[in-house]
Amino acid sequence: MTVLAPPSTPTPSVASPTPTGPAVAAEVPALLPTVGASESVPLVGGRRARFVHLDTAASAPALTRVANHVSDVLPFYASVHRGAGYLSQLCTGLYEQARVTVGRAVGARADDVVVFTRNTTDALNLLSAAVPGEVVVLDVEHHANLLPWRSPSPGHGVRVVPSGSTLGETEAALAAELARRPAALLAVTGASNVTGEVPDLPRLVRLAHAHGARIAVDAAQLLPHRGFDLAGLGADYVAFSGHKLYAPFGAGALVGRRDWLDEAEPHLAGGGAVRQVTTTGTEWASSPERHEGGTPAVLGALALAEALRTLEATGPGRIRAHEASLHRRLVDGLRLRGIEPLRIWPDAADVVGVVSFTVPGFRSALVASYLSAEHGIGVRDGRFCAHPLLARLGVDDGAVRASLGVANSSADVDRLLGALDLLVAEGPRWTYTADGCRPLPDDRELPAWAAVTGLQALGTASTPCAPSNTPAAGADR
Ligand code: PLP
Repeated sequence: MTVLAPPSTPTPSVASPTPTGPAVAAEVPALLPTVGASESVPLVGGRRARFVHLDTAASAPALTRVANHVSDVLPFYASVHRGAGYLSQLCTGLYEQARVTVGRAVGARADDVVVFTRNTTDALNLLSAAVPGEVVVLDVEHHANLLPWRSPSPGHGVRVVPSGSTLGETEAALAAELARRPAALLAVTGASNVTGEVPDLPRLVRLAHAHGARIAVDAAQLLPHRGFDLAGLGADYVAFSGHKLYAPFGAGALVGRRDWLDEAEPHLAGGGAVRQVTTTGTEWASSPERHEGGTPAVLGALALAEALRTLEATGPGRIRAHEASLHRRLVDGLRLRGIEPLRIWPDAADVVGVVSFTVPGFRSALVASYLSAEHGIGVRDGRFCAHPLLARLGVDDGAVRASLGVANSSADVDRLLGALDLLVAEGPRWTYTADGCRPLPDDRELPAWAAVTGLQALGTASTPCAPSNTPAAGADR
């Protein structure tokens, strides 16, 4: 997709808010303050606009309270677990208290273990090495809940079940597979990272247990929107990422049953994971230390705990209502424009604030670049690390995903809808690379402070940009 107008005719202004329906919905402000919420970004052609962050499903901005907590702790930062100094003792206490807070926030039982990991991917990789048998998953999963289970060892590995076209059909397909041959674990998404749809988790828990399997929930997308209650649900494991929970400081967690974790090989062999080492042998510690070798991301764990405390104090009902009104505004607005969001299970009653779609006549990579370059709107495009799902949905060339969170307002949704109106009515005003991935030229300046890093222009980092399903691109977009 190339030139639609020369760069010398830039769009005069950022898309003005567009009414979103016959009865214009009431204004909805952001629910919680985040760092950088009023930040402006450069647009092509020398203009600027307030950045509209509609990509929280990929990574969410830090809650102001989380950032404040981290900066409160920073002057007191020191090593944990093995230091005798006052700061080490304090940080050890804070780190272990964060473990308690995280466990309590996700409904851990008294004998469950909270292992701090880097993220959901890391948590599920840790669990995959502990599962004493085969794993069953659906073909709708994020790669993080698909690839770790693949194993060449006999009696291990993954069985991928094609999803049905309704939740009921999907549950029946899972039941048939679990009845056909026992599995150790059913691993399911708590909410799809492509459609936001939430499967019926209580039914899946009963289904897994009725067939003698445990169940792990990938709550990367669910937890920020709905919370999670491991004990209440009766699930066995839950995995999640701090950076999707408004705590982008490098930690996530795996929470769940102790026995498999204590029998598994250590996830990270090294200092802190052991009781005793000789030159020839090792006596490993039990969990969680067993899997947390090396120096942990202390600030990440503290940030994660503070984010969960903040979301809990805000109240799941308020978070849900705020998101539901923005989600409705966005979906209604898209439908008014003839755009139907992607769905896996039209009968899924609960959908979190994640909306993927294509714009007829425009490649998704171009739509995303245009939204960024000409309107200062951040969305994601591609196949969202869910290639089998995108293939099933018939959008192998990728889609656009807008995702909502506590920092969004109705003005954000209206900016997106207004920008799409301009795109459809007039096409992009700037020029773009042939693959649609970048504005050409890209004259957006960098923040002054970025000079110290040596970065000289946008798009020169190692992240490749290419059509989403071009194998040569090497990017899992
Ligand atoms: N699971 C789901 C449903 C996701 O959306 C993601 C990330 O987008 C992951 C797992 C992986 O999360 P992370 O990249 O934090 O490991």
